[in-house]
Amino acid sequence: GERILTVKDLTVQFPTADGLVNAVNGLSYSLDMGKTLAIVGESGSGKSVSSMAVMGLHDPQRTRISGSIELDGTELVGASPSLLRRVRSSTASMIFQDPQSSFHPFKKIGPQIAEAYLAHHKVSKQVAMNRSVEMLDRVGIPNPGRRAKQYPHEFSGGMRQRAMIALGLVNDPKLLIADEPTTALDVTVQAQILDLLGDLQKEFGSAIVLITHDLAVVAEVADDVMVMYGGRAVEHGTAHEVLANPRHPYTWGLLGSVPKLSSQGGNLRTIRGLPPSLINLPTGCSFHPRCDFRDRVGEACVTTLPELAVREGDTTRTSRCHLQNPAEIFETEVAATLE
Ligand code: SF4
Ligand code: MG
Repeated sequence: GERILTVKDLTVQFPTADGLVNAVNGLSYSLDMGKTLAIVGESGSGKSVSSMAVMGLHDPQRTRISGSIELDGTELVGASPSLLRRVRSSTASMIFQDPQSSFHPFKKIGPQIAEAYLAHHKVSKQVAMNRSVEMLDRVGIPNPGRRAKQYPHEFSGGMRQRAMIALGLVNDPKLLIADEPTTALDVTVQAQILDLLGDLQKEFGSAIVLITHDLAVVAEVADDVMVMYGGRAVEHGTAHEVLANPRHPYTWGLLGSVPKLSSQGGNLRTIRGLPPSLINLPTGCSFHPRCDFRDRVGEACVTTLPELAVREGDTTRTSRCHLQNPAEIFETEVAATLE
């Protein structure tokens, strides 16, 4: 598909009373129409912040951005607020974990979706309302004509999430950014929503950036996966490469903390330690304070930031770690612990 998004060397910083927060530290990736990229990491990894920057949703007074974000051929870094608004609303759309934040609580669902359509189309209110009901139908809401006349609180969590997807897609965006869209939902509804996103993508041909901390979600829907840590990509490849043969110790840790459906999440393991301070990022590899493999490398883990590069045995997948033989370590030591 046609290239829709190219992010190059993006940095995002927030000055605070405690110091400069380095939320995104030199991030590069690109995305084609029809593809889904999952951005995975713990909270504070930069996955949401980088996507807010792509959407131009950051507060310009509080944010320092450098690098390049090219969305559908337009450079967004340094663009005027009016250009940002126009590109954002005509090309890209974002849906969030909490649909409450997207819908006004005291307005009916249907008119809210119609309003978003009217903002970009010179049509009558009736035509916009018809479009709204059609979108509710397409996201699988039963009795869409009746539902359109209800308020957000009259929808279940899953139905509200569907309605938010309808809102996100009403203007046919080329890029849809979904930030933890299923996190608040139970497992069955999660699966339905992910199926829905996949179906709609086939129908609309859009590109999707799916932000999640949950690798089980990724396996369902992503073509490519980028794992972020401390505001940087640490591994980036096809979903198959990253899930079946991950190269980075942080990815190994994330895979180890995926709850198994059968275990009810009972023996959920987590990665030891805490995410890094974005004001004082660790020297060298940001993951070194939490890494169980740094003694295989030595000083370099503490002194030298590894490049994000294609390593031996890979053709396009990149990873950011000093280990010489990650494939062998994964196969002989790590894989069995993930069973
Ligand atoms: Fe661990 Fe060193 Fe690799 Fe960082 S560079 S992930 S500390 S082995
Ligand atoms: Mg987030």
